[in-house]
Amino acid sequence: MLSKEKIEYFKKKLNEEKKALEKELSGVGRRNPDVPDDWEATPADMNIAVSDKNELADGFEEMESRSAIENTLEESLNFVKKALERIDNGTYGICGECGKQIDEKRLEVYPAAKNCVKHTKNGK
Ligand SMILES: [Zn+2]
Repeated sequence: MLSKEKIEYFKKKLNEEKKALEKELSGVGRRNPDVPDDWEATPADMNIAVSDKNELADGFEEMESRSAIENTLEESLNFVKKALERIDNGTYGICGECGKQIDEKRLEVYPAAKNCVKHTKNGK
């Protein structure tokens, strides 16, 4: 089992990561007004000086990539939130597949990890 201190330490890390992700998300998207936990991509800020005409032509692509960035950030945010939930219900640091303790070194690198190295998928 992780010590109380260790859990507090990872909780702090996760909360910091959550804040950072939400900050990044607010740069490319906004909270869905109907679903507070959901984010959606917003068009690029049109106040940006259009000194380069290509920027306008790239508007659509820009929206596509913002949406891709938004999705990636939102996915990371959800992993972090789930890890925080596991801290609250006392299952943090335990592999969801085999129930074994996740290596602390792994949590250090990736505090939102939900599986041990053996049961990890896509490095998550
Ligand atoms: Zn496992």
